[in-house]
Amino acid sequence: MSHNAPQAPAGPTRLVIRNIGLILSGDMEKPILDADTIVADNGKITAIGRAKDIDTEGATTIVDANGTVLTPGLIDSHVHPVAGEWTPRQNQIGWIDSFLHGGVTTMISAGEVHMPGRPKDIVGVKAMAIFAQRAFDNLRPGGVKVHAGAPVIEHGMTEEDFKEMASAGVRWLGEVGLGSVKDGPTARKMVAWARKYGMNSTIHTGGPSIPGSGLIDADVVLEADTDIVGHINGGHTALPDGQIRCICEGCKRGLELVHNGNERAALYTLRLAREMKELNRVILGTDAPAGSGVQPLGILRMVSLLSSLGEVPAELAFCFATGNTARMRALDCGIIEPGRAADFVIMDKAQHSAGKNLLESVQLGDLPGVGMTIIDGIVRTQRSRNTPPATKVPEIVGH
Ligand SMILES: [Zn+2]
Repeated sequence: MSHNAPQAPAGPTRLVIRNIGLILSGDMEKPILDADTIVADNGKITAIGRAKDIDTEGATTIVDANGTVLTPGLIDSHVHPVAGEWTPRQNQIGWIDSFLHGGVTTMISAGEVHMPGRPKDIVGVKAMAIFAQRAFDNLRPGGVKVHAGAPVIEHGMTEEDFKEMASAGVRWLGEVGLGSVKDGPTARKMVAWARKYGMNSTIHTGGPSIPGSGLIDADVVLEADTDIVGHINGGHTALPDGQIRCICEGCKRGLELVHNGNERAALYTLRLAREMKELNRVILGTDAPAGSGVQPLGILRMVSLLSSLGEVPAELAFCFATGNTARMRALDCGIIEPGRAADFVIMDKAQHSAGKNLLESVQLGDLPGVGMTIIDGIVRTQRSRNTPPATKVPEIVGH
């Protein structure tokens, strides 16, 4: 479990996880699977089912889940990384590894906007995006997949600029509105160019987050037409309810709820999405690091908040942090099915929770205790140093 875990070990790997008490699939269509065993070969899920029906021979690692709960690794749809484990926003180090201890195995950059001296000229914007993509591809803190290289659009960019960045490996657009482009027509044109070259986009919704950023209202959000409505609950200042409703009803894009946002507005958006029978659009982020800090348990806290106060069954609330995000962001993780990345969190109800099992404890507003994280079929952490202690924990029983 070195700090900068290798992308893949030498030679083939076969991970067998057995004796799983409950498998949450990440897929809202079928959130609970009838299975107790998962096999992953070379970092990809290859079999899911009952132990008696599955070939588990030849394992290089065997995990006994000890009757605990397995979900896909959690995805944070909204982070602001800068350089490895360092964040200049709060001058902390080690924040990504801390998130891993909160069950987050994949993060998506909404822009490397906290970079001291961030360039705003177009050559500089492109260079920084390519640099960030390369740097986080080369180095995965704790094994976490940090999808970085998310340029923030500036006036004067041309279609050729998006083509050039995409061909260099940039596949994300950071929050529209954090640069000089804050108007609908320009944003719409550039977002469409980005999409044409395969880049997935997001926008800063709501009031300014820190001095220097600005207001983005419902009209601009709808006109820009990004793939994700970034922090529709504000970051932290939310739009009025009427504008949130306009956005939810006016498009089919992802509705991102963040920990660094307005909690009441998050619950309002959740209720609208449920009324519209479109809970599959709800995805989660932290928007960390930010002015309100670094929250290693931010995604788990959102799951618990939305499940308890928003009255969503916990098995569906976990889909907001896994399968929904994977679909909206076109990732190969987030759902327990063959062919997907073998990224898992194994957890149990926290010790002394009033809930009788994990799902009930989350619905009562408690956080789960994380017992193990696995990325690409490799065990990355065991009992979390950050969550409340899990009642039962999995163990590695063989190699
Ligand atoms: Zn923002």
